[in-house]
Amino acid sequence: MYEKVYSNPDIYNIYVPLPNNPLKNLNCYVVKTPEKNLIIDTGFNLKECYDALSTGLKELDIDISKSEMFLTHMHSDHTGLAPFIMNSDSVIYISKIDYELLNSDSAEFSWDALYRKFMSEGFPKEAIENLHKSNPAEAYAPEKGFKAVTVNDGDKIKIGDYEFTCVFTPGHTPGHMCLYLESEKLMFLGDHVLFDITPNITFWTSVRDSLKDYLQSLNKVKAYDVKTALPAHRTSSKDFYLRIDEIIQHHNQRLEECLNIVKNHPGMNAYDIAGFMKWSMRGKNWQEFPMHQKWFAVGECIAHLDYLRYASKIYRRFENGIYCYYAF
Ligand SMILES: [Zn+2]
Repeated sequence: MYEKVYSNPDIYNIYVPLPNNPLKNLNCYVVKTPEKNLIIDTGFNLKECYDALSTGLKELDIDISKSEMFLTHMHSDHTGLAPFIMNSDSVIYISKIDYELLNSDSAEFSWDALYRKFMSEGFPKEAIENLHKSNPAEAYAPEKGFKAVTVNDGDKIKIGDYEFTCVFTPGHTPGHMCLYLESEKLMFLGDHVLFDITPNITFWTSVRDSLKDYLQSLNKVKAYDVKTALPAHRTSSKDFYLRIDEIIQHHNQRLEECLNIVKNHPGMNAYDIAGFMKWSMRGKNWQEFPMHQKWFAVGECIAHLDYLRYASKIYRRFENGIYCYYAF
């Protein structure tokens, strides 16, 4: 299933379903020109995604040997199928930072390191062990080691007569990239700006303050002239600049909320602080949250606590193997 979203260059959106995922679908964009095509993001390494994407590409009559691929970031719903859709000698672009995260064998970036970090923030050990077995990000990732061409901020990608510019937008992931087509004032946003949901911002073991990076990256794209904004999930239902302001405001409110919780409950860990935050989960309370949703909630909570720590609003102490937070 695909729809045409732009003419000259012709851009199509292939609807890739993400089963059992609150994101619902991935928008795989295909820029089609007589000389060359560009495929942007893929869906999970999962049969349902593969079927949808390969059918869409066939319907669009895309010749893979005349196509390149651009991955906006390392998350497995964007990269999972890259090595399966493309040929072994195809050009696949991704930022250097995210490529290294995806392919690193270093213990520092391993799932184990991440699980240990979550436990040090109060996440229950048994829950972590269960998540480990069913984590889609872990299960549906591409195989390690696929070949890629790494790109940096400002790099150009030429597809037919069109020149695209890589726009480094760290935050959602440490190496997230948007792709800008200046001649058309058109931007592929990946997960940097989403319209129907707020992009998940979590902490990264390799990043000091991911929320600060993210807010800076929002201001960065705000300075671009964008008439057509193409997000990687759902629809672009609003004005691009208005939406950016809404997301910035959302995080400012979150920061205030976190600070108030820490002030009112000194010495709590991040897992418990997340339980006091408001989440839009169709009326469910924290106890009823599925564990994988708690995982995202706690990650987001830690990113906000990090921001507050580096802004000298709060501090943390390591007590009996768990970080406890206090306001200054
Ligand atoms: Zn993502």
